[in-house]
This record gives sequence, C-alpha cells and structure tokens, in this order.
Amino acid sequence: MEEVKSFKDLSLEVVEAGICGKCGGCVSFCSAGELNALRMGKNELPQYISEENCLKCGICYLICPQTHTLDGELQEKFSWKLPVGSYQKVISAQTTNEKIRKICTDGGVVTSLLMYLLERNLINGAIVSKKIGPFARKATIAKTHEELLEAAGSAFSGSLHLEELGGKYTTYTPILSTVKSLEGKYLQDIAVVGTPCQINAIRKMQCMGIIPAHLVKYTIGLFCTENFSFDDVARERLEKKLDINLSDIVKLNIKDDFMITLTKDVTIHIPLAEIDEVARPACSACQDFSNEYADISVGGLGSPDGYTTTLIRTESGSSIFDGALRKGYIRERTFESAEVSKLEKTKMMAKIVSHSRRKKMRAKKRLSKLTRGGALSGKT
Ligand SMILES: Cc1cc2nc3c(=O)[nH]c(=O)nc-3n(C[C@H](O)[C@H](O)[C@H](O)COP(=O)(O)OP(=O)(O)OC[C@H]3O[C@@H](n4cnc5c(N)ncnc54)[C@H](O)[C@@H]3O)c2cc1C
Ligand code: SF4
Ligand code: SF4
Ligand code: SF4
Repeated sequence: MEEVKSFKDLSLEVVEAGICGKCGGCVSFCSAGELNALRMGKNELPQYISEENCLKCGICYLICPQTHTLDGELQEKFSWKLPVGSYQKVISAQTTNEKIRKICTDGGVVTSLLMYLLERNLINGAIVSKKIGPFARKATIAKTHEELLEAAGSAFSGSLHLEELGGKYTTYTPILSTVKSLEGKYLQDIAVVGTPCQINAIRKMQCMGIIPAHLVKYTIGLFCTENFSFDDVARERLEKKLDINLSDIVKLNIKDDFMITLTKDVTIHIPLAEIDEVARPACSACQDFSNEYADISVGGLGSPDGYTTTLIRTESGSSIFDGALRKGYIRERTFESAEVSKLEKTKMMAKIVSHSRRKKMRAKKRLSKLTRGGALSGKT
C-alpha cells in the first residue's frame, strides 16, 4: 500500500522548496485542528506546532494547490482537456448595472452574476475579497448588495495611505480560512470568487468530501498570471524603476500586461517580466492561468475595456450565466455580423490559450529546477 503523505512531506516538497502560496488551506483544514498540530508561522508559512499531534491523515498534502496527487481525479470529474480545460463557450460580456459599471475591474460580470444569484435566492452568500486599501484585501462572506459592491473592482479610494499597511503590500487574498468558517454559520449555498489556486483547493476538498466545501455551489474563477507581494525595500526599488509613487495608484489590472492607473488619470502598461521581482515565488510554479476547474472563468484578456472575457465551463456555470443574461443583469458584446463575432471569439480563445501555455511552460521550468538541483531545499 502506498504510504500516506503528511504535513512532513508537504513541508519538504512545497514549503521548503519555496513554492508555498501561503493560502492557509493546510492549516485551516487540518484534521488535527483541535489538537493544534499546525499554524501559520514565520513569514505566513505553515509549520508544525506539534508533529506528535499530527494524525498523518494526508489531507493537508492532498488539498494543497501545489501538489498534484488528485489531478487525475479532478481531470476526470471535469472532463479536463488541454490546453485550457473543458469549456462550453467563450463570451465577452458586461454588466447592465450603472453602479457596478463605474467601479468594476473589467465588465462587472462577476459582481452582476453574484447579484443575480443573491436576488434569486440561489445562494445565501458569496465569498469575495473586500478592498481595505491599495494592496490589501480581506476575504469576507457577502450577503447583501452593498457587501458585493465593496468587493467589486480593483480601484482604490485615494484617502487610504500606504503607510497604514505596515510595509506589507500584496494583491493576494487568502480565502480558504473563510471557506472553513462556513462551518457552523447556518449558511447553505455559497458562491466563491477566487484565483485558480484557490478554486483548485476547493475542488480537491469537494472530491474528498471535506466539510464544509460541499456548501460551495458555484465557483467563479479569475484568470491569473501571478500575484504580487512585497515589502518597503522592494516598494522603494519598484517606485524608482517605474518612476511612480505607489500612493498615486488608483487602479490596478492585468490583461496582456500589468496596468497601473494613476491619480492623474494616466494608465501605464508594464510588461509582466519587468515586475517579476515582486511576483510571489509560488506563482512561478503554478500551471493554471484560466481557472480550469471553475464553473465560470473570467478575465479581461481578449475583451475591449468595459467587458469581461467569460469562459463558461460547467452546467452550473451555463445556468447562472444564461439566467443572469435572461433577467437582464448582464449583456453580451454585440458584433456587426456572425462572421465578425466568430473571428473575435477565436482571437479571444487564442489569447487565453497562449497565456495558459506560457504559464505552463514557466511552471515546468521552475519545477524542473527544483527537482534537478535536489532543490527541494532550494530557496527562492
Ligand atoms: C490577483 C488577480 C490576478 C488577475 N490576473 C489576471 C490576468 O492575468 N489576466 C486577466 O485577463 N485577468 C486577470 N484577473 C481578472 C481580472 O482582473 C478581473 O477580476 C476579471 O476580469 C473580472 O472582472 P469583473 O469586472 O467582471 O469583476 P468585478 O465585478 O470587478 O468583481 C471582481 C471580483 O474579484 C474578486 N477579487 C478581487 N481581488 C481578488 C483577489 N486578490 N483574490 C480573490 N478574489 C479577488 C472580488 O471579490 C470581486 O468579487 C486577475 C484578477 C486578480 C484578482
Ligand atoms: S493531521 Fe492530517 S491534515 Fe493535519 S498536519 Fe497531520 S497530515 Fe496534515
Ligand atoms: S500552498 Fe497553501 S496548502 Fe500548500 S503548503 Fe502553502 S499554505 Fe499550505
Ligand atoms: S499564479 Fe495565481 S493562481 Fe497561481 S499560485 Fe499565484 S495567485 Fe495562485
């Protein structure tokens, strides 16, 4: 019988290898939670509090987005195929709600779908990432319109000062402890908006029947090239290199490149390679750009400003998109003819495929370095 891999293996293969995404999934869902086996320790990395209390159940290892034991099972369940997973169709769409349109990141499809689900009582709440400042968000369970609006978009109010963040800047929000907190909240049907690593962990939990992941009825997955985390030293370097003051940023977005909108209402485009130094090390080992196991995947890539590129993958995804469309929460981008529509959709898919391939190649390179150099102990 194959030996069960425990946190000891996870620590060696992921944490010490420098590819831990600091999602907190292993700690939040540890079977020995009450025995205090694990904690998020130094640098927000998971560690044993007491190895003796570890039940060696293997759950932490299996659900970690950086391990691949359950890949086969997931692929079968979601009829996964290269190069971007299974999908029914690709659409460029936008919100019909003026309030959402003014604050959303791209076309406001995410917030509109969640509004539709909430208003039709198809969900009791949605796990979203509320803005608490530039480079700082917090996962929360939104149960009202207002709470959904607080999470929409990637624009910041100018009144918040970066100094309040204590030298820690990040675009990443851990959401898995919020998923765990659904236990005992008497909520039933939940939607989750997350990055590919987050949706991947939730899908693995669902595969294994881990409670309360079964409460997640709808997953809206964001496209994701990478996330950024940095400190004051890196901030200073970055400001010098880009010749901007980060406190002047009013909006961040990624499509083909990283887009920074400044208070002067100027948007600068930065090739992703130029800000590699502040990307999270875990992201370079991540293989999923288009959120391959979500019900619906969304991004700005391939759509004009004001629209969200939407990949409908599962039956659940299709039913909520069609419902929201029928009820007038969102509208599709229109084209002058069927041929133009077909051509634009082909171009949109080509971009998604190209970004997905690039990301898989990057991960392959990074992971091969880890194994070749015996670099499971290699630092990033
Ligand atoms: C870190 C990150 C990286 C991305 N990278 C790409 C990319 O490389 N290419 C691309 O085309 N698109 C990328 N996207 C997706 C894109 O920025 C938009 O989020 C997407 O197009 C949806 O736009 P919208 O207007 O429909 O969403 P909105 O209606 O504005 O809603 C945005 C939703 O995103 C959630 N959210 C915001 N930040 C986070 C976060 N850090 N973690 C989890 N959820 C969050 C909010 O809770 C909200 O529900 C990325 C998004 C994020 C958050
Ligand atoms: S008890 Fe299970 S989930 Fe917790 S650390 Fe040990 S192996 Fe991981
Ligand atoms: S990526 Fe998440 S689940 Fe994996 S070791 Fe890091 S914190 Fe734990
Ligand atoms: S690239 Fe995105 S999905 Fe992958 S680990 Fe980083 S944040 Fe998660």
